[in-house]
Amino acid sequence: MIEEKLFLRTRSGDESFGFEKEKRRRLRAVIIVILTAALLAGAWKAYDILWLRHRYLITAYCDCPICINVKSFRNGKFASRKPVYWGGIAADKKIPFRSGVELVPATPTDWFAVWRLLDGRRKFVVEDRGGKIRVRHLDIFFPKDRGGHEAALRWGARRMRIKINGKLAD
Ligand SMILES: [Zn+2]
Repeated sequence: MIEEKLFLRTRSGDESFGFEKEKRRRLRAVIIVILTAALLAGAWKAYDILWLRHRYLITAYCDCPICINVKSFRNGKFASRKPVYWGGIAADKKIPFRSGVELVPATPTDWFAVWRLLDGRRKFVVEDRGGKIRVRHLDIFFPKDRGGHEAALRWGARRMRIKINGKLAD
């Protein structure tokens, strides 16, 4: 009888020990998940503050009446007086004509858009201005043979960092 009681106590003791172990293991897993999430959130925040906040707005246009609503500006020439071509881009007056700008994609989505919609082209030359083009804004020109309006719409509005004449812009 005594032996049996002892046996029972030991068994139940063992069981509760196993349960405690399982609980601790679960708690540890939860803590690891929370810490990893916090670490990733922190890393993303740092990436956002240090890199992504310098992004420019990059839009696109063609020489259709929707994109250029002043008829005299649809003369097949950029504001720099050069005939329009694939590789020309519009910027605000702070970036002089003939300046080289380079897109610096920051996310896989951006890289994919550049590869897919610009055929991987990242270097453009400032040739145009625009009433709606303010600071930190570039407007990529799509000639008809590059898809024109459709291609401009497909590009839409994206935000990327840029280099101006080889120097990373703030
Ligand atoms: Zn258009």
